[in-house]
Amino acid sequence: MDDRYQKVLQQLTAMSARLGEPERDLVILGEGNTSAAVDEEIFLIKASGQSLVGIQPEGFVAVRRPAVMELLKQGSLTDAQIKDGLRAASVNPEAAAPSIEATFHALLLGLEGIRFVGHTHPTMVNALLCARDAEKVIGGSLFPDQIVVCGPAPLLVPYTDPGLPLAHAIRDGIRAHVEQHGEIPKVILLRNHGLIALGRTPAEVESVTAMWVKTCRVLLATAAFGGPQFLSPENVERIHRRPDEALRRQLIFR
Ligand SMILES: [Zn+2]
Repeated sequence: MDDRYQKVLQQLTAMSARLGEPERDLVILGEGNTSAAVDEEIFLIKASGQSLVGIQPEGFVAVRRPAVMELLKQGSLTDAQIKDGLRAASVNPEAAAPSIEATFHALLLGLEGIRFVGHTHPTMVNALLCARDAEKVIGGSLFPDQIVVCGPAPLLVPYTDPGLPLAHAIRDGIRAHVEQHGEIPKVILLRNHGLIALGRTPAEVESVTAMWVKTCRVLLATAAFGGPQFLSPENVERIHRRPDEALRRQLIFR
């Protein structure tokens, strides 16, 4: 394996283990999955059944992205067909099976500037995503650092079966988000399921995850004081476009 592969594997392992730290309450047991692009063709993803807690480099498998993108073009596949397809897409078919969510990871790692993806089930985020009023309370931004780190708006994806249907729902959601906001989201919220953070670097994925957990904590606390008071769309736009905030973003996500 070449240097680049080893470097990305080491970065992904460290990021994943940090996301799996029990005290952060982002995942328990086998929840969550993470991935990283090695190059245009190969990406690494958590193997099925692995736990993020204390994960080691052996917990990841290398998969060919174009082969997974071919699976995504199918209208529907059975679970067995997806599993076979993912195994066939693996660089080493003898290795452990990739996570069933490799379909949406392949899609997200094909987006402009995205090299690392972290999918977790944080308790605070799921409290929001399992709530009746989720759509209403994420309809605006609460504080400047939320916008600087997580962008002006998250993408909320309705609840869908895992695997191919979820990957299709995410793909359709991203298209609509780009049409509406002119850029890809950094935070994808899966209704009644969990959070996906996108980044150029592991630091960006970890920062987006931590800031969105904080956003949910703040949101919850606003319920005790009359509900959220959103920033105006003008303020959100100004914070999102400020040159000094762009510089701060670069420093955070290095
Ligand atoms: Zn999940």
